[in-house]
Amino acid sequence: MKIGVLALQGAVAEHIHLLQQAGADAVAVKRVEQLDELDGLVLPGGESTAIGKLMKKYGFDVALQEFSAQKKPLFGTCAGLIILAGEIEGQDWTHLGLMDMKVARNAFGRQRESFEFDLPIPGVAEDFRAVFIRAPLIREVGDDVDILARYKDEIVAARQGHLLCASFHPELTDDSRMHAYFLEIVKEYRSQTAVGTI
Ligand code: GLN
Repeated sequence: MKIGVLALQGAVAEHIHLLQQAGADAVAVKRVEQLDELDGLVLPGGESTAIGKLMKKYGFDVALQEFSAQKKPLFGTCAGLIILAGEIEGQDWTHLGLMDMKVARNAFGRQRESFEFDLPIPGVAEDFRAVFIRAPLIREVGDDVDILARYKDEIVAARQGHLLCASFHPELTDDSRMHAYFLEIVKEYRSQTAVGTI
């Protein structure tokens, strides 16, 4: 299984390390041509405005719409979650706009801009060390979106079919269970497309 990590800006090496730990062949992706050989892609944390601009500049805005239309899984963490969102609070534009959810950037108050919490994520881990860094929140989700985790009633991880997102940074721990969960999704979609059910 070959998984890419979009390497325009942000925490790339950490994702590659945990994807490898979870058993995938992982590569940094800088050019759209690399997408063809991938089974799935991680959109890392960083600064969503900067990542969004670079995505446009290098053609990833269009190429990733196609990637997703082929039901190839995407996993967005922190800024990557904002890149996937169908609506961004206070903004009349989006980046990829793929997931049916409304998100708020930098949604935690100042004193809580960065913190860690042992988060229960059903199906993934009972106590996942979640690192929040100027993190976004998911305010609302559509009917097709499954809520995976909440922190104090606020939604911090979700899945819509082949699309997965977390407002924290699973790559900043040495725990690869969230990445392993993503690889399960990739496997699921790979076998479905192989027999032509999608
Ligand atoms: N605050 C950043 C943004 O809005 C996200 C922060 C992160 O990825 N750690 O893009």
